[in-house]
Amino acid sequence: MITPPPLAPQAKPPLTLYLAAPRGFCAGVDRAVQIVELALEKWGAPVFVRHEIVHNRFVVDGLRAKGAVFVEELDEVPDDRPVIFSAHGVPKSVPAEARRREMIYVDATCPLVSKVHVEAERHHEAGLQMVMIGHAGHPEVLGTMGQLPPGEVILVETVEDVATVVPRDPARLAWVTQTTLSVDDTAQVVEALKARFPAIVGPAKDDICYATTNRQAAVKAIASQIDALLVIGAPNSSNSRRLVEVGRAAGCDYAQLVMRAADIDWRALDGVRTVGVTAGASAPEVLVDEVIAAFRDRYDVTLELVETARERVEFKVPRVLREPG
Ligand code: SF4
Repeated sequence: MITPPPLAPQAKPPLTLYLAAPRGFCAGVDRAVQIVELALEKWGAPVFVRHEIVHNRFVVDGLRAKGAVFVEELDEVPDDRPVIFSAHGVPKSVPAEARRREMIYVDATCPLVSKVHVEAERHHEAGLQMVMIGHAGHPEVLGTMGQLPPGEVILVETVEDVATVVPRDPARLAWVTQTTLSVDDTAQVVEALKARFPAIVGPAKDDICYATTNRQAAVKAIASQIDALLVIGAPNSSNSRRLVEVGRAAGCDYAQLVMRAADIDWRALDGVRTVGVTAGASAPEVLVDEVIAAFRDRYDVTLELVETARERVEFKVPRVLREPG
């Protein structure tokens, strides 16, 4: 009997991965994660965290394994344990209640979200009613709207919503935005607001943060060169979902959100030769590495870095966590 010769290993198909930069963790997310880690070091477990500290299950599970307990509301936290407020910000009533209960709390609200809170308050003190551009129900929107008394902030999501705004006085209005919106869509909503309410005042451009802006610009830079775009991020991460939309709007028909490599639909990628990869501001780099490794298992990968900006932003953690003891 003749033994057949061993099969030659099948050559992997070639594929170019365009890796967008900047991508992944922003300074606000980095700070929020550090705050939980330092709080665990300082006070020991359990440390309670109101809402997912950042919208990424991988990050949340990692902190949970170290002793963080995630809850949705303050009334789920015992009086004698420290509590951290998430990077998205909280309504004013939340720290007020923590103070009333004499709890130890640390606010991990991103300083760029706090800046919007201050803006909203400043306009309110000047007697202006606020219009907020943002997504209904998102914790950042709840937090920003919760800086002012009920009824003082009108929420709009789209250009169409602008037509429905019924202000107290059309001449006494100001606008702010959520920090993680689509830059292009928001510009259209701002234009519609200015067209309908010429006296409205607001920031020079919008309140969309540097990280959101940079990640969207990097996606735009690769979208026309790629057959498919994968955005690593969670379904409840606003900035990650916007990256998918920006990729599609910039010409990449197949743009998908994946939480990690296991979510990639390889069949849908059949025949593609160029894939763009980016990550939302709450997705850690380890998940990007995992996705690249999964591509290397299946393809002969050429990696191209497309860097459209360098980020050097860092935020300090609150003093209470820098002090010993
Ligand atoms: S996405 Fe922007 S606003 Fe949100 S935490 Fe990061 S830096 Fe702050």
